[in-house]
Amino acid sequence: MAFDPAAALAKIKARDAHRRRRIVEGPQDVQVAVDGRSLVNFCSNDYLGLANHPAVREAFRRGVDRWGAGSGASHLVCGHAAAHHALEEELAEFTGRPRALLFSTGYMANLGVVSALAGRGDAVFEDRLNHASLLDGGLLSGARFQRYPHADARALEAALAESRAETRLVVTDGVFSMDGDLAPLPALARAARSGRAWLMVDDAHGLGVLGGEGRGTLEHFGLDETEVPVLVGTLGKALGTFGAFAAGSEDLIDYLIQRARTYVYTTALPPAVAEATRASLRLVREEPERRERLHRNVRRFRAGAESLGFELGDLIGPIQPIVIGANAEALEASRRLGERGFLVSAIRPPTVPEGTARLRITLSASHTDEQVDGLLEALAAAVPQEA
Ligand SMILES: *Cc1c(COP(=O)(O)O)cnc(C)c1O
Repeated sequence: MAFDPAAALAKIKARDAHRRRRIVEGPQDVQVAVDGRSLVNFCSNDYLGLANHPAVREAFRRGVDRWGAGSGASHLVCGHAAAHHALEEELAEFTGRPRALLFSTGYMANLGVVSALAGRGDAVFEDRLNHASLLDGGLLSGARFQRYPHADARALEAALAESRAETRLVVTDGVFSMDGDLAPLPALARAARSGRAWLMVDDAHGLGVLGGEGRGTLEHFGLDETEVPVLVGTLGKALGTFGAFAAGSEDLIDYLIQRARTYVYTTALPPAVAEATRASLRLVREEPERRERLHRNVRRFRAGAESLGFELGDLIGPIQPIVIGANAEALEASRRLGERGFLVSAIRPPTVPEGTARLRITLSASHTDEQVDGLLEALAAAVPQEA
């Protein structure tokens, strides 16, 4: 029998899990034009307000003048431009590692890195709530694939102790993308060391945001390359542009150039994007006040939400989800916030576990106090809490 998309869709709709795209009619910013209205954006990953920053836009424009629109080929054929190379060197310096390698997206970086570092006969250990791209990389690798309970370093230690695989790779988000909490990296690093495993961290939501200099979750915990030899970062979130990278030793990066299939068999991202990212990386380094402003907004939001009776969990980063539960209720809460002028999307399964649909609220350095307070007022009305 052939696949029946109509029947499959009907099932998705029956669970209030059907998704549609909102159409954005202007640049990504705190005030965003969506479906014909202007809303205050509290769900983007543009944590530092760089996606539409004048200096980043200007670097992109100049990049187009210098490099044209497309890269023309993969990095290994003839698509590796000096702009890509300069960005790799700057990312290596920023992350304090010998070398970095650009990928076209974070999804591809994770698929490529995990499946290059583990294969048949090896073992991959992943946090149950890891980003889909990491879980997919583990499955694709062909290695024995085990998920440990969320943020549970002891369970990881026990799983490693039982493993007979020669090569073991432990993989975790730095900041969990839908929950906003930090992985217990020091404990995971200890477990990895005693279990003779390599540790890989995907810091998509920590990079640019956490640590005094914005170097991310590793800087926050004071960990370096000996503890976390494989680091992946993405460029479409706090850096405001597009793309991703892996950073590590000379040999690790050279090996990935040979064997990461999502690096080898794909077109290099446009060099102008790399130029834009170089400009945003400069802003991350030279304007720590953006990070300070973001954290001030996070604190303001948390204090206000807690006084309204919301339970937020112990979260220091820009992702501050409010778990609602049922899909239909999360959708309704999001719709009510929209009526009041705020864009907060409802995140539903399979992105999050069944029964934990949520409002994934994200703060940005560009939000004003008035916008944060306005959101709190709208939340009080849209999602009333018992006193
Ligand atoms: C967004 C995200 C990715 C994917 O990055 P893209 O560049 O958007 O493909 C990977 N890992 C985590 C944790 C993410 O949040």
